[in-house]
Amino acid sequence: MKDNSVIIIGAGFAGLSAGIYAQMNGYRTQIFEMHNLPGGLCTAWKQKGYTIDGCIHWLMGSSPRSGIHRYWEEVGIAKGREFVNMDEYMHYEGADGRTLIFYTNVDRLEKHLLAFSPQDAMPIRDFIRGIRMCLDFDQPSESDPLLKRLRKSIKLGLILATKGREMRKWMNISGTEFFMRFKDPVLREALREMWLPEFSMFVMLFSFAHLHNGNGGYPIGGSLPMSLALAKRYTRLGGVIHYDKRVKKILVEKDSAVGVLLADESEHRSGQVISAADGYTTLFKMLEGKYADEKTREPYEKWPVFQPLLYVGIGVNRSFAREPKTVSGMSFPLSKPTEIGYAVRDRLPIHIFNQDPTLAPAGKTSLVVMMPSSYEYWKELAQDREAYKEKKDRIARTVVELLNQRFPGISQQVEMVDVATPLTFERYTGNWKGSFEGWLLTPQNAFTMMHRMRQTLPGLQNFYMCGHWVEPGGGLPTSVMSGRRLVKALCKQDGKKFRTTVA
Ligand SMILES: Cc1cc2nc3c(=O)[nH]c(=O)nc-3n(C[C@H](O)[C@H](O)[C@H](O)COP(=O)(O)OP(=O)(O)OC[C@H]3O[C@@H](n4cnc5c(N)ncnc54)[C@H](O)[C@@H]3O)c2cc1C
Repeated sequence: MKDNSVIIIGAGFAGLSAGIYAQMNGYRTQIFEMHNLPGGLCTAWKQKGYTIDGCIHWLMGSSPRSGIHRYWEEVGIAKGREFVNMDEYMHYEGADGRTLIFYTNVDRLEKHLLAFSPQDAMPIRDFIRGIRMCLDFDQPSESDPLLKRLRKSIKLGLILATKGREMRKWMNISGTEFFMRFKDPVLREALREMWLPEFSMFVMLFSFAHLHNGNGGYPIGGSLPMSLALAKRYTRLGGVIHYDKRVKKILVEKDSAVGVLLADESEHRSGQVISAADGYTTLFKMLEGKYADEKTREPYEKWPVFQPLLYVGIGVNRSFAREPKTVSGMSFPLSKPTEIGYAVRDRLPIHIFNQDPTLAPAGKTSLVVMMPSSYEYWKELAQDREAYKEKKDRIARTVVELLNQRFPGISQQVEMVDVATPLTFERYTGNWKGSFEGWLLTPQNAFTMMHRMRQTLPGLQNFYMCGHWVEPGGGLPTSVMSGRRLVKALCKQDGKKFRTTVA
């Protein structure tokens, strides 16, 4: 009889969901996680009574009407969770005194953008048409009654048949290429700041369509409660998580994965091994590069990753009740260009978590300043621990001073500042180059996404991968779907019917 035991490396969203679906389907699983908490990147930490949320801005599939919502029910995240849909995606204050608002409602967005920059009517209308094209795009859920599923499948088929070409066109345009079409400098710069310029435009349209549909809500409580809910669902289904256990090596015998070797030198055997940990570490350290053929290496040599972050959490004794609640924050111009970290900036982006009172003591607010940064810069600086610490302290002081320009008096109200660098993300989650979402979905690799990356390695039996390093574009839904897709394939391979339940 086939050994149905499975070792999973990593208790992030992908590892936990692989574990959940595997337990639902009769596998005996255990997870080895190097951190002392579940969730990987979907996490939060506390300082002086404030919660610094390290992840969630919006969760695709938050609406019960969406096909993706079923996955959140299956993995135990939907139950009892309150989602808030925000009116604004981003609030951008221009240096010329004008304010640009990226509304989540597409009609309101169109009206505002056209009024803001009539000279850009053409690209604005294209952009809005693109969002509207994605509004009906919803995948059928396996749990839908047959008739509903059939209806949804026919609708999806029709959308793909009639709009497939248009979608591919957007897939092949990067943000940079599209944003160049705008003449108004404030609008152009706002788009560039709001969205990753290398990203395929299709993702932006798709995201705005979800937000318009009320299907990209923010979960009250933030990231860590969701990760804890996932871990609870997994252990309730009989899975076991071993925390503070770093996997050093994947044990291989006769080209078949047979278990793992931990950093504490203990060996653990299983019929199958799934790595839901960082892709680079898995392929080139745990497996010493032995099973990485040209196709597997290609992304690591050629594809861009989500740029790592400089992440400043700030706790303020102030309510911000009158400031807008936004999905991704606001941005304001600085009185003069200022060095923050390795870069000189003329604006400051800030995310005010005023939609979630659970993240701060009553009447106070948790803020985050999140900026793209350079992994190499911090890696080199960290050779000198004192210099690294001094730089972080300087950034903390600078950010508070800059906030004072927009919110006079705030520096007297700041009670906590916490600076995380790309090395912090790397240390706590193992992600390659400190990346926060794996591969950027660019026009170059969009094709691969449509045809999916492999979850297996050539020549290695009983070994699988899931998570954002095998799913370009990343994100929480993708990681969960990655674990699900893997277990479904395992079931097929083992001649079992794939089954799911909801929490
Ligand atoms: C600031 C920020 C904002 C984000 N915003 C959103 C958002 O709004 N919406 C959204 O959907 N997504 C968002 N994301 C992205 C999302 O968090 C990630 O794509 C997702 O969490 C990836 O999950 P994963 O399980 O694939 O990988 P990870 O979360 O990286 O999990 C990997 C796990 O493996 C463990 N591990 C690594 N190496 C080892 C080892 N050797 N031994 C044992 N364990 C190991 C790690 O500790 C970790 O727990 C955001 C991320 C960040 C950082």
